[in-house]
Amino acid sequence: MPDDLIALLDRFAEIGATPGGGVRRLTGSAEDGAARRLFAEIATARGARVTVDPVGNMFATFPTAPDADTTVLCGSHLDSQPTGGRFDGSLGVLSALAAASKIHAEGGAARHNITVVNWTNEEGARFQPSLTGSSVFTGKYTADFALGLTDRLGVSMGEALEEIGFLGEDPLDLTPVRNLELHVEQGGHLEETGLQIGAVTASWGVRKLTLSFTGAPSHTGPTAMGKRRDAMRAAALAITRFHAQMEAEEALLHWSAAKIVAEPDSPNVVASRVTVYFEIRNPEQQVCTEVGDRFMQAIGPEVSALGCGIEVFTDEARPGTALDPEGVGDTLAVADELGLRATGMLTITGHDALALAAAMPSTLVFVPSVDGLSHNEAELTLPDDLRNGGAVIEALLRRWISSDSAG
Ligand SMILES: [Zn+2]
Repeated sequence: MPDDLIALLDRFAEIGATPGGGVRRLTGSAEDGAARRLFAEIATARGARVTVDPVGNMFATFPTAPDADTTVLCGSHLDSQPTGGRFDGSLGVLSALAAASKIHAEGGAARHNITVVNWTNEEGARFQPSLTGSSVFTGKYTADFALGLTDRLGVSMGEALEEIGFLGEDPLDLTPVRNLELHVEQGGHLEETGLQIGAVTASWGVRKLTLSFTGAPSHTGPTAMGKRRDAMRAAALAITRFHAQMEAEEALLHWSAAKIVAEPDSPNVVASRVTVYFEIRNPEQQVCTEVGDRFMQAIGPEVSALGCGIEVFTDEARPGTALDPEGVGDTLAVADELGLRATGMLTITGHDALALAAAMPSTLVFVPSVDGLSHNEAELTLPDDLRNGGAVIEALLRRWISSDSAG
């Protein structure tokens, strides 16, 4: 079944398909439910035992080692951004499904089973924080915390999962020895360098700095200009300063101010509180910290001059995560055997494999994204690159289920 992976990707891309060629499968939505049911149906038909844990993580275990109580996890996520790409997440789940079912169908006794995983709410589009299912699995969050997360309409993740029939009660009953995930790069490094496979060594650090600019509510009409304490104006000034400073910094940075919440949110009331979500990313966490501190110091006096204040709403440091070096070495070796041009590289984005790294050796493999585009309906990875990624996953699974230490 050489094009099994391509056929699977095409089939899942129909679920929640958007006019622009992408998908919309928010966690706990009807479309998420349909994708989950199709995944369970295909995996079961191919010989897997499918279980669902209390936060909706789906485990499809192929008994490649029926007597063993150990397994190699391989998967990603089937949920998407509101206007997401068709390969983001799906490629990881479906390449694992294609490879595991092929290996299982050949028979033979390995040392470990293979469990294909669909992690719940990786994207964090409907429920924040992201990487929810994988983080509950490693014990970073409790199941109660995850199920209690609410969307903007007040629906909890628990209610949403129950609604689509995926609030399970079966924790994985095998011991995972390793984790593996294939994902589209979502950046331009592989494409620009003409390489086919990325073995991710670590992730960039990020500082998520959310600031509330405080002023005072007053009528937007009669209030004298000199008497206004306009939090929206303070936020606008801070956002402008933020971009100018980041551009001028010498360090290699990625940054954004992507979300803003205004209060009282009326066109006729001068904003009394405006909360802005800033993010600063760099390979080194320390650089994110220093750059963010400089930004805070720079805007303080200017915001005061407008009669406004600044409150730190949240200030979260997420240092880069290092992935298992042996997994990187194995990925590069396998790519070489397959005649593929590969490199070790960093990831800027978060992935389930990074969450899993807290609990076990974890490996993340990238294939190129055309123009580095992602979280966009036009996100594209070419068929040859999809197949190359699938071949690397299959070879790594073969290697690791037969290995003594699974690493
Ligand atoms: Zn993804």
